[in-house]
Amino acid sequence: MANKNKVHKAIDIVIIGGGIAGLWTLARLRQTGYQAILLEADHLGCIQSCASQGIIHGGTKYALTGKLTHSAQSIQKMPQRWKACLEGKGEVNLQQAKKLSKHQYLWSNKSLASKITGFFASKVMTSRMQHLQKGSYVAPFNQTDFSGELYQLDEPVLDIQSVIETIREQFSDFIFQGDVKELISVSDEQKSYQYQITFSDQKEMLFAKNLILTAGAGNENLLRSLNFNQPKMQRRPLLMPMLKAKESILPKMYAHCLGVSSLPRMTITAHQLPDNQTVWYLGGEIAEKGVGRSIEHQIQAAKKELQNLMPWMDFSQCQWAALAVDRAEPEMSDGGRPVEPAVFSQNQVITAWPVKLAMAPIMVDKIIDELEVLGVVRNSLPLDVKEVKSLSQAQTSPLPWEKVQNWL
Ligand SMILES: Cc1cc2nc3c(=O)[nH]c(=O)nc-3n(C[C@H](O)[C@H](O)[C@H](O)COP(=O)(O)OP(=O)(O)OC[C@H]3O[C@@H](n4cnc5c(N)ncnc54)[C@H](O)[C@@H]3O)c2cc1C
Repeated sequence: MANKNKVHKAIDIVIIGGGIAGLWTLARLRQTGYQAILLEADHLGCIQSCASQGIIHGGTKYALTGKLTHSAQSIQKMPQRWKACLEGKGEVNLQQAKKLSKHQYLWSNKSLASKITGFFASKVMTSRMQHLQKGSYVAPFNQTDFSGELYQLDEPVLDIQSVIETIREQFSDFIFQGDVKELISVSDEQKSYQYQITFSDQKEMLFAKNLILTAGAGNENLLRSLNFNQPKMQRRPLLMPMLKAKESILPKMYAHCLGVSSLPRMTITAHQLPDNQTVWYLGGEIAEKGVGRSIEHQIQAAKKELQNLMPWMDFSQCQWAALAVDRAEPEMSDGGRPVEPAVFSQNQVITAWPVKLAMAPIMVDKIIDELEVLGVVRNSLPLDVKEVKSLSQAQTSPLPWEKVQNWL
């Protein structure tokens, strides 16, 4: 236990959690002169960020019911903002990050397409998507057997591991591996807040004037250790099937399949294994509805669904796996999906969830606004290494398909 009245040498800002939220925050804060460091319990991006599909949504997915919802509007500028970063002209330099595809696509079977073609052709949607003619179809839709419609969305798909690695490389002096166990308020006599940070291995103890909690699902325990009742968090689980094979069997593809609800029936992104095999990673309805099934049952369901959606393809040579992962977000009264990033501030502790990886830039705008309200000074003094003497640097996580031990 720290002495309550003693003033400790404290770091201005400690960010806890090194997924996209924490890393984007660190990059923006260091570039704008704040003295900030980041602590990551395990590997950078190891929970949600590296498990994401890497789609930089512009909101088309949220307009699939034929209505332009509030979510679709708040996310519209994200592809442009990320593209500027990829070109080295944005707020975070992502020039070294890899793009998996310039576009996400959207396909539908004939009957569904006819229902919303009018909406897709409307002015508000044509800025987000382009209806493709048969001659310009991409694989695996460039087949005579495919009789639906194909749209090209203005939404890139990124290799998120490379996004994380490129931010890590630029700010590695300020990124440390440390599993934060407890946060204890140790206010000084002037009543300004100061926090003691303890780690599960008990090797080190740090002090911070301001905390930013970007630990995804880990925010829940951190808030509990501070005795904060708010904000509350919710988890929305997914069971994501994946299949792998040679590229001649599984071509690289990035597409949502239009369903009858606001959720795509399936969202497919393709990734590459170190042995050059392709992995298809399946999100959307199949991953939401699969929660509660055994891995084997989910694989059976995914096989059936894929064969229904792409009857012209042969998946018999593929090997399968599935990943259970929770989305961690601020609690919504109806348990539904929040539409915007959430940033809460209390006693110099900022808690944030981006809700979507694509929306991390908006989340960090809100954090910077909050630091200004709090009057945190921009003070880019070099970090005193004595403060973090026994912590090692955190490394980037492998991708989920690289961690699978038993493909079925
Ligand atoms: C399957 C799936 C697919 C998705 N696809 C997309 C997509 O295509 N596009 C999109 O925009 N969004 C997508 N999302 C959403 C997106 O991945 C998340 O919104 C985003 O990655 C959340 O980032 P984060 O940094 O808040 O959390 P995380 O990536 O979970 O990072 C939190 C980090 O905090 C660390 N941590 C936890 N506790 C502690 C502690 N006590 N001390 C220190 N560190 C701690 C963890 O180890 C972890 O590295 C997807 C999500 C999932 C689950």
